[in-house]
Amino acid sequence: MNAQIDSALDLLRQAADREPAAFSTSFGAEDMVLLDLIRGHALAIDIFTLDTGRLPEETHTLMQRVEERYGRCFRTWAPDADALQRLVAANGINGFYASVENRKACCAVRKVEPLARALAGKRAWVTGMRVQQAVTRTRLPAQEFDAERGLDKFNPLHDWTEAQVWNYIRTHDVPYNELHDRFYPSIGCAPCTRAIAVGEDIRAGRWWWENPESKECGLHRKPAAGQHAAAGNPTGEFA
Ligand code: SF4
Repeated sequence: MNAQIDSALDLLRQAADREPAAFSTSFGAEDMVLLDLIRGHALAIDIFTLDTGRLPEETHTLMQRVEERYGRCFRTWAPDADALQRLVAANGINGFYASVENRKACCAVRKVEPLARALAGKRAWVTGMRVQQAVTRTRLPAQEFDAERGLDKFNPLHDWTEAQVWNYIRTHDVPYNELHDRFYPSIGCAPCTRAIAVGEDIRAGRWWWENPESKECGLHRKPAAGQHAAAGNPTGEFA
């Protein structure tokens, strides 16, 4: 376990050295491990979250607990108000259930565009993604170049197991989203997240009405072919 932590810290330090670096958190279990490492080791990495306007109350409760434990250490980015009004007028308040196209349009307004603003001018982007999280992430590398955004992307927990994530959280008494205790292994917006049953894939509760292959919100797109990739992932693809 210590080797895993050292490896993650090494990647975080590499990201910090790219200055300016940013860590995007949705306050899931993996993100809480990274937040604890970043704050605990005083790494120069900005922390931000995307408040889509549809987050579960439990996530806001955790955000409050994070402020109490680590200080007011993260910035919150909201959707563009005009774009959101146009989206809801066109597709309805819960239009994301109607089609994959509508769902991706909602993610584009509530997540992807605010993410672009949050990452503007950054040279490194830290995420909490892991290989085992989804069929769309089986080739996730430790580090890659995001050609579209023009920055280095770091996935310090790419090779961690779910058990290792929770071992860290328990050992270091890290706060976490109480929805995890109610069988929500992956937590996003409230209307697009449900609890899973025993034996189901850990991403089964996200956009459960869609096929697994379409279950990404557009935040983590596949890099262009031929772009830089970390060792062990010669193509740089992960989706
Ligand atoms: S997860 Fe659901 S509510 Fe949240 S931005 Fe995507 S479609 Fe919209």
